[in-house]
Amino acid sequence: MDTKEDFEFLHAYVAEKFNPYDEGEYIVIQTLSKSIRLRALHRGFDYRAAKSFCELENLGSDYNHYSLRIVYQGKLHHVDFDGAPTIKSREQDWKVAADYLQVHYDRNLDGEIEVCNCSYPVFWALKTYINQHGEGTDKLIPVTCLIDDHGREIDNCPNCNARLVEEEEEDEDIWDEAPEPCKGCKYYSDNYVMACAVYPYGPDEDICPDWAG
Ligand SMILES: [Zn+2]
Repeated sequence: MDTKEDFEFLHAYVAEKFNPYDEGEYIVIQTLSKSIRLRALHRGFDYRAAKSFCELENLGSDYNHYSLRIVYQGKLHHVDFDGAPTIKSREQDWKVAADYLQVHYDRNLDGEIEVCNCSYPVFWALKTYINQHGEGTDKLIPVTCLIDDHGREIDNCPNCNARLVEEEEEDEDIWDEAPEPCKGCKYYSDNYVMACAVYPYGPDEDICPDWAG
């Protein structure tokens, strides 16, 4: 399906923004943008022009943040005062595989792309787990979705190592044994996961009014 953005490629000035970046090119990007695509507001080979563009953008905005990067060995890098590349940037021009983008934009399909604080796109896929009782539960799990690295289940962001999933075991293994009021109750399952719908975390009182043998 054609999106509004597809048609915009007909305009040369828009298409230019999506052209592959060239080695040695200076790019002013919006950091913390949470956009799936890298937001490049300015690009060119003139360091001073790029630097002053970036400074002006930052002056005009209280909330957004714009940063200058240079393409070096195919990756975005920070620049020193002379415009030479220094360390690799956390923000990169991530290429998301088409399949994942399609699911992300299709409201009828389960799964969506979330952008990590570092700019890395993570795809949250719905996965069905079968528990020991043979029941299926759906859970969202993070997977990679880049063209050259996709379908890999991840716990941490591959780019900045931020933790993506909560430590679930913490909730489930909270007790070494059943809470006192739950002992012997038929609604408490013996694998220490509460099966009780009324007090899933145990009753507040010492004696549970709904205890059933
Ligand atoms: Zn990250």
